[in-house]
Amino acid sequence: MTEFTNGYKELDHCRVCKNTDLTTYLDLGNMPLVNSYVTADDDEKPCDRYPLAINYCPECSMSQLSIVVDPSIMFKNYFYRSSISQTFVNHCAEYAENSARRFSFRESDLVVDIASNDGACLREFKKQGVKVLGVDPAENLAKIAIESGVPTVAKFWNADTAKQLLADHGKAKMITAMNVFAHVDDLDSFLTGVNTLLDDDGVFAIECPYMFNFMTNTEFDTTYHEHLSYFLLKPIKHLVERHGFEVFDVMTMNIHGGSIRVYVKKKTSKAWDICYQNIDKLLLMEEETGFHKLNTYMHFSEAVKNIKEDMVNLIRSLKAEGKKIAAYGASAKGNILSNYCGLGKSDIDYIIDDTPEKQGYLAPGHHIPIVAFEQLKKDPPDFLILLAWNFSHELMNKTSAYQGEGGKYIIPIPQVKIVPE
Ligand SMILES: [Zn+2]
Repeated sequence: MTEFTNGYKELDHCRVCKNTDLTTYLDLGNMPLVNSYVTADDDEKPCDRYPLAINYCPECSMSQLSIVVDPSIMFKNYFYRSSISQTFVNHCAEYAENSARRFSFRESDLVVDIASNDGACLREFKKQGVKVLGVDPAENLAKIAIESGVPTVAKFWNADTAKQLLADHGKAKMITAMNVFAHVDDLDSFLTGVNTLLDDDGVFAIECPYMFNFMTNTEFDTTYHEHLSYFLLKPIKHLVERHGFEVFDVMTMNIHGGSIRVYVKKKTSKAWDICYQNIDKLLLMEEETGFHKLNTYMHFSEAVKNIKEDMVNLIRSLKAEGKKIAAYGASAKGNILSNYCGLGKSDIDYIIDDTPEKQGYLAPGHHIPIVAFEQLKKDPPDFLILLAWNFSHELMNKTSAYQGEGGKYIIPIPQVKIVPE
């Protein structure tokens, strides 16, 4: 077992191809864990911070954090429940219907979801008439899933868990991994497990944030300690091939600010045709956009620094004019953006968040109070920073009364701007 010193370990090699010659291109400094919400009683306690930087591997074009925080610290407080978002539920319903059609599901088939959260995705697969099984380490979420009719095992996914599941449930026709792949340190054990449990003609589908959107929209605020890897298709292909798999199709999607879904089969399987056209097109696009060159990443890093500078200058000048500022969205990305820009209680009076579990807490790092939506009417600011900028349109519609009374917005990404100007 690897030792964690001071709560983390350094990553001295690429998790995909094992190359040790890595270059840091983005360094956000020492940052708090994005889910470490604080009670008012603990306001004076210093919060734990860990280095947050991304390294590039020139061999396989993989981007990955320079450290791994001890998972027992990182996943202590987990607020996110997948079925809360209707967009996500709709996404899963479409995914399940599409998979049932494309892979000709039968009643006896088993679909396993890795990091199944509260069972939201598998509830949709169950509607397609297959057997389902969830795997998730969070016992509270596994319990919710089981109560909703989705059998779930409360364990971390790895090679040993897969062996146990094989003995108890037999092989899986399909294994899905949605928004977990980027959070896994030991991808070798993860894929060994998939190899064990997957039927010889089974389908393994990975869904994770896509590096393309991260780079082109300067979405640096999706860099946080849980998010260990930042994937292109190229490193995923390299990785699965090393484990005896083969990519047979790929698609990009708009969910979560831009994601990629990669369909994988065992190399020996002849059950599914390989869609070379889709795969080659994306690989070529990645190459032509410059994603295989370090220089591109250095430019990205400059753009991130510019956003910070513009943000800090704007907030300081508004405060000098005596303006009142609040923010919307105490999500992971909101917490990263505000902390990286060094904003604090003297800059932002409060952060609105629609998740009831977060209200009443202080946001990680700067300890700005998190409040319910009603605060906007009770105590309206002159400017509202849309930290959840990816929902700008939705948030502006929701706060049209605020805007009607002359309230303005600050949208930080991809470029800092005031709306209306
Ligand atoms: Zn590599």
